Amino acid sequence: MAQQDTEQSVNEEPKESGEFVVDTEDCEERERAHRERGTSRPITVVGNPVLHKECKDVTAFDDELAKLVDDMFASQRTAEGVGLAANQIGVDLKVFVYDCMDDEGVRHVGHVVNPVLDDLPADRRILDDSNEGCLSVPTAYASLARPDYAVVRGQDMHGNPIAVEGTGYFARCLQHETDHLYGYLYIDRLSKRDRKDALRQMSEGTPRYPVVAND
Ligand code: ZN
Repeated sequence: MAQQDTEQSVNEEPKESGEFVVDTEDCEERERAHRERGTSRPITVVGNPVLHKECKDVTAFDDELAKLVDDMFASQRTAEGVGLAANQIGVDLKVFVYDCMDDEGVRHVGHVVNPVLDDLPADRRILDDSNEGCLSVPTAYASLARPDYAVVRGQDMHGNPIAVEGTGYFARCLQHETDHLYGYLYIDRLSKRDRKDALRQMSEGTPRYPVVAND
């Protein structure tokens, strides 16, 4: 979505605080370690087929997957994003990364493989209609109502089950990135008029990061 050099052994279990993974500690170091190992890749934009279909489930939790996560962090940093899905760098796999603040200004850094959003009970479905943007719809923004709370379940790059909880802007990010991996952009959730307006904003703007030209 538009915004550590701790050596960890490969089989280390994810840190859990109760039900949810701890993604608020050592953010600076973890984000830097990923992006310094990775290679930044250009971003796919609306119209590229890889963005408009469901990505494949990840079944191999190997070095290649770890390299993909590193490349995604590097690409996310180049594009100054707060979240990035694998198909946004042209890879047809269910993985997203994030580096995003929640509604209390707390930074969250992490990745999720094969994410699935929890259905929220009615009392947690409080809609927030803040602005949303997407690196794959460069320079456009639109207001979009989404629940201000989200839980995503999936795996980490080692295949360990994880759950991530988000509030505010971070909740929006978790929903936005999961949508990507099922073939949906945020503009697909807008009214016809707002979608058209977002595409107009995109056609009039110039992305500040490398993008993959559509044929
Ligand atoms: Zn996006």
